[in-house]
Amino acid sequence: MSSYVGRFAPSPTGPLHFGSLVAAVASYCDARANQGQWLVRIEDLDKPREVKGAAQDILHCLEAYGFSWDGEVIYQSKQTAHYAIALQQLQAWVYPCTCTRKEIADSSTRQGIEGFIYPGNCLHHPIKPQAPVAWRVKTQDFVDHFHDNIQGALHQQLATDIGDFVLKRADGLFAYQLAVVVDDAMQGVTHVVRGADLLYSTSRQRYLQLLLQLPTLNYAHIPIVMNADGEKLSKQTLAPAILANDASTQLLNALAFLKQTPPDSLHNATLATIWAWAIAHWDIHKITA
Ligand code: GLU
Ligand code: ZN
Repeated sequence: MSSYVGRFAPSPTGPLHFGSLVAAVASYCDARANQGQWLVRIEDLDKPREVKGAAQDILHCLEAYGFSWDGEVIYQSKQTAHYAIALQQLQAWVYPCTCTRKEIADSSTRQGIEGFIYPGNCLHHPIKPQAPVAWRVKTQDFVDHFHDNIQGALHQQLATDIGDFVLKRADGLFAYQLAVVVDDAMQGVTHVVRGADLLYSTSRQRYLQLLLQLPTLNYAHIPIVMNADGEKLSKQTLAPAILANDASTQLLNALAFLKQTPPDSLHNATLATIWAWAIAHWDIHKITA
């Protein structure tokens, strides 16, 4: 029995597009080629951003494309009790913050890789006692070194690259960084294969794993699919939905994007034949960063 557990964790903000298909194919092939399990988790934490019906659409599309997942699909919206417990366990390292984005922009003196570094206005007490609070985690002097299976060696110093980051927002929603760490641990995930847009989130997640004494994971970040204008395919850039009746072609395109060089003979093959080839020939090291 292999101990590999992988996952695909789409946000239901719209139907699957080619970029999300590529992430699904990469995580699926890597799991199956390692005799691992492959789980699906719907990341519907941000209810205001959710598109009605998108989660069902995504699952139907995955089925139509011939993916088969292990166990039940987990919905983050049903997991909030677990996130609350984790936040409680982090109480020695978190503090309430009442700053708005604008206040942070106005008072910050440093840019990190994802925008302004939180300047610590509320570190000792929230600056606006009556306002709703977000919970931030102190990044302290954490310096992370990790090896990504595709991107190679990486390191990040959280305090200067990211700054103290939010675990629970002032509107009451738990942040992705906390939810993903709790869920990956609860589901026993061992291998994360996802888009490189999340590469710089990895150190934040590894930091939370350390504080919560959770196992560390293996990471592989696949290149992001861009459109002709050089923008990441996403709902915001109006990436077209992939269609259920076009599965073989799209699957072959995804494998080609992942540098797996599917042979021409697969062009008239059934989905099952394409999947069998893809898993048998899967080589994650062919993917270049
Ligand atoms: N829900 C995230 C997305 O759709 C993926 C999160 C993850 O794989 O860690 O982009
Ligand atoms: Zn603050």
